[in-house]
Amino acid sequence: MEEADGSEIAQNIYKDPIEISFEELTYFDDESLYRWLCPVCETGVLLMSREGTTFSLRNTDRCTYCGQAFTYLDECTEENILRVAVAKRHPALQKSSPKNNRLPRNH
Ligand SMILES: [Zn+2]
Repeated sequence: MEEADGSEIAQNIYKDPIEISFEELTYFDDESLYRWLCPVCETGVLLMSREGTTFSLRNTDRCTYCGQAFTYLDECTEENILRVAVAKRHPALQKSSPKNNRLPRNH
C-alpha cells in the first residue's frame, strides 16, 4: 500500500537492523519517555518493548510503520532512559520529579 508521499507500510521490514544511539533519536511525543520517532520514515514509532518475564527493556526495536529494525547502542535501562530524558529536557519531566521512575501523566 503506497501513501501519498511515496512511503510504504512495512517497506523496510526485511532490511538489516540499524544500530542507533538515543542521542540520535527524537521523542515521538511529549508524554512518553519510551517512544521514539522512527528516523527512517519519520512517521512510525519505536515503542521500546519489554521482556515478557523480567520486564527489562529490550535493546532491539521495530518501527510500527515502515518495519525497520533497530538495535540500541545505549544501555536499555530505566535509569539510562531517564538520564537521556533529563539531558534532552523532555517536557514530561517538567511536571513531576525525575526521581519518580513511573511515567509522568497529566491528572
Ligand atoms: Zn519507520
